Amino acid sequence: MEKILNFINGELLPPSSKQFIDNFEPATGRVYSQIPDSDSADIESAVTAAKKAFESWSITPAKKRSDIILKLSNLILENLETLAEAEARDNGKPVWLAKEVDIPRAAANFHFFATGILHFASEAHPMEDTAINYTLRSPIGVVGCISPWNLPLYLFTWKIAPALAAGNCVVAKPSEVTPMTAFLLSKLCNEAGLPPGVLNIVHGLGPKVGDAISRHPSIKAISFTGGTATGAAIAKIAAPMFKKLSLELGGKNPVLVFDDCDFEKAIATTVNSSFRNQGQICLCGSRIFVQEGVYEKFKSRFVEEVSKLKVSHPYDAEAKLGALVSQPHFEKVKSYIELAKDEGGTVLTGGKEVKLEGDYKNGWYLEPTVIEGLAFDCRTNQEEIFGPVVTITPFKDEEHALKMANSTEYGLASVIWTSDLKRAHRVGQNIEAGIVWVNCWMLRDLRTPFGGVKNSGVGREGGFEALKFFTEPKNVCIKL
Ligand code: NDP
Repeated sequence: MEKILNFINGELLPPSSKQFIDNFEPATGRVYSQIPDSDSADIESAVTAAKKAFESWSITPAKKRSDIILKLSNLILENLETLAEAEARDNGKPVWLAKEVDIPRAAANFHFFATGILHFASEAHPMEDTAINYTLRSPIGVVGCISPWNLPLYLFTWKIAPALAAGNCVVAKPSEVTPMTAFLLSKLCNEAGLPPGVLNIVHGLGPKVGDAISRHPSIKAISFTGGTATGAAIAKIAAPMFKKLSLELGGKNPVLVFDDCDFEKAIATTVNSSFRNQGQICLCGSRIFVQEGVYEKFKSRFVEEVSKLKVSHPYDAEAKLGALVSQPHFEKVKSYIELAKDEGGTVLTGGKEVKLEGDYKNGWYLEPTVIEGLAFDCRTNQEEIFGPVVTITPFKDEEHALKMANSTEYGLASVIWTSDLKRAHRVGQNIEAGIVWVNCWMLRDLRTPFGGVKNSGVGREGGFEALKFFTEPKNVCIKL
């Protein structure tokens, strides 16, 4: 059985404990590879390697860093098929989705920041004829990047790319649930000529490896994407050590459909925004609020379209949804469907496991599920489910829609469907979310600030926001 290895100082190594943990294939429910059960000793080795590498990487000209990172981006594209198949096998998502979205985006992340660093500049603040201030921006040193399982290589590279481009050295931990593509990436790093120790990837459990990253005194900044409770645990350790923190956390995103929406576009996109990647994208809209005038029409057409979505194994080109990522997650999502029923909800479509045949009979498949009749403030409508389950609720007017949309502890993304431009601006202004899409969803420009408000996070990723996070500003004041 294939053994995944850590990537430390340019070498593929077993964990110092020599212990491995099982890695499951969601499509079949079987163990198909093994992951290092690393601990603080491996983090120590990774930090030592990163500190040494920082001495030269931090002073390597930006153009040279950029060239190496661009090579890595190209290598990802050259290996697109292999990486997409590995991602689908490890995560349960359809292979076509990994080919169209996950892997091209991982390459784009490196490409974007490799070129972005060449355009990164800092400010000058002249004080008339008294003095001139200028800001220097230097890499921080050794930084930690911790990522989740839903978009494994996509989100892993979204953090690593700006960190490396800005001249930092990285100790990174992918999710233990989906480690495979990060392992394959480590091999490509050597092929691209990334100097040893510049990027170190340590696999293993969050409470061991992630915790060791949070605690290590030489790791000066942490970029984390994952659940809100984990983000809080990291902040509790890192804040008293005055580490820089960027936290991209959970969501419970509202979709607001007004009477005057472009009906066909709203239906087609809301099917996607609800169930793409089995609903396991932090940006998926999980609470759909529809204005009374169009509610019945929207509901029946939406349910009709959702019930046509094919749930199948990742290798079926017709599959619109694949398997959920793990058995515990599968059980968690199912438990929310039961909770919704207990809370008085009616399942309009879905709600049950899907049993496939043959090799796939023990995989974790769930029907896309739409639930109606729930109070906006019940647990199903307040807690993050992160699976193929959405609720649908009518609203009277803008004020009513905003009250329900803004009622959760989260504030990551939101979607507004309307043909009224004034309303779009008004609602966009008043909705509590870091990201607002009007008449679209997941339309991403990598230069824009990305992140959430309230318990959905602290800080912003994307564009120069990320390069600013991964550099330390210093003001130099020169008296004229
Ligand atoms: P988790 O918070 O469970 O895990 C995220 C990462 O943190 C994993 O690598 C995990 O390791 C690690 N980790 C777990 N415990 C600790 C710890 N005590 N200290 C340090 N690291 C730890 O999230 P999931 O992987 O379950 O991902 C789903 C969550 O991510 C959802 O809440 C979703 O909304 C959020 N998310 C947010 C996004 C955003 O941009 N705001 C984007 C995508 C997802 P291990 O896997 O080994 O447990």
